[in-house]
Amino acid sequence: MLPEKTAEILKIAQALIPLKSTKDNPDEIQKCLEYIKNYFQTENLVLKQYTSNDKPSLVIATHKTKKPKIFLVVHIDVVEGEEKQFIPKIKNGKLYGRGADDKKTFTALAMVLTKDLAQLKNPPDIGLMITSDQEIGGEDGTQYLLEKEGYSAQVAFLPEHGINFGISNIEKGVIHLKISARGKSAHGARPWMGKNALDELINVYTRLHCLYPNPENENDWKISLNLGKIEGGEAVNRVPDWGATYLDLRYTDDYREEQILRTVRKICKGLKLEVIARGLFCYTPEDNFYLQQYKKIEEKILSHQVEFQKSCTTSDGRFFTNLGIPTILSRSPGGGSHTDNEWVEIELLGTFYQILWEFILSL
Ligand SMILES: [Zn+2]
Repeated sequence: MLPEKTAEILKIAQALIPLKSTKDNPDEIQKCLEYIKNYFQTENLVLKQYTSNDKPSLVIATHKTKKPKIFLVVHIDVVEGEEKQFIPKIKNGKLYGRGADDKKTFTALAMVLTKDLAQLKNPPDIGLMITSDQEIGGEDGTQYLLEKEGYSAQVAFLPEHGINFGISNIEKGVIHLKISARGKSAHGARPWMGKNALDELINVYTRLHCLYPNPENENDWKISLNLGKIEGGEAVNRVPDWGATYLDLRYTDDYREEQILRTVRKICKGLKLEVIARGLFCYTPEDNFYLQQYKKIEEKILSHQVEFQKSCTTSDGRFFTNLGIPTILSRSPGGGSHTDNEWVEIELLGTFYQILWEFILSL
């Protein structure tokens, strides 16, 4: 449907992808925001820019309110990529490039949709949040806007997860841990004279893994544990008297953070345990009115059943869950985010636009 809409979305995405809006490039992030502000310039919309810790965000709304009925939430920051990824390419009906899937094309789609809805005689009460720190935690973007600037909504929509138009309603929570150990150094030839700090850490890691064996795939819904970084020791012929491991633990909705930390603390007895980052999970019950309404409209337009899905990674949706705001995570097909082969299906962007259009007008 609407090929001219798809063309407009594509044009914006192709203008945003060459801007290297990674965490170390504030100028390029600003250029993205300038492009977006320019796009909305002549429209009858309320546009506000915020900055928290040098991370800018834009909020665009059809009404003069901080609590629109629905917030569309996207981000223009991207993860680092190879030089050639910043040149958008179209091949076999797909758009390739850094941000094609995560989240520049969907930012473009949300922009076109917001502009079109604003031009209706009675525009629906919607807001568009465009942040620039999603890839590094979202604390200065979505969290800041909700918790410090007082934004809210009845429902939030994020074009995240949702494989093949599926609706993701549960994400795993995340805890990043640093475990440090102190030992006693000795000559490597006489390990019995010392106390090996790395041995202790490996021991603890093995015990944790026995307790939390890793899932076998995306649908094996249980706790996962990854040893991402290990440091310690000075030389191969010396017993290391210090060391640290960095663990990435993702937990399902059957657990609470405190409960997991209690268990980990018990196993790490005598070692130093620090939580260096954390993210709650995003969750909206399947029978939520907005989720059901979105599902109904999707199934009508797609002419097939849509399933609820679970996601192992987190999104900014968790900040809405935290405030009790139902959150819909879904999008049209794309893939390869954070890899050097990132893409989005072009033709289905029009379908996604239509689904969102009908959903918003049904609220
Ligand atoms: Zn990402």
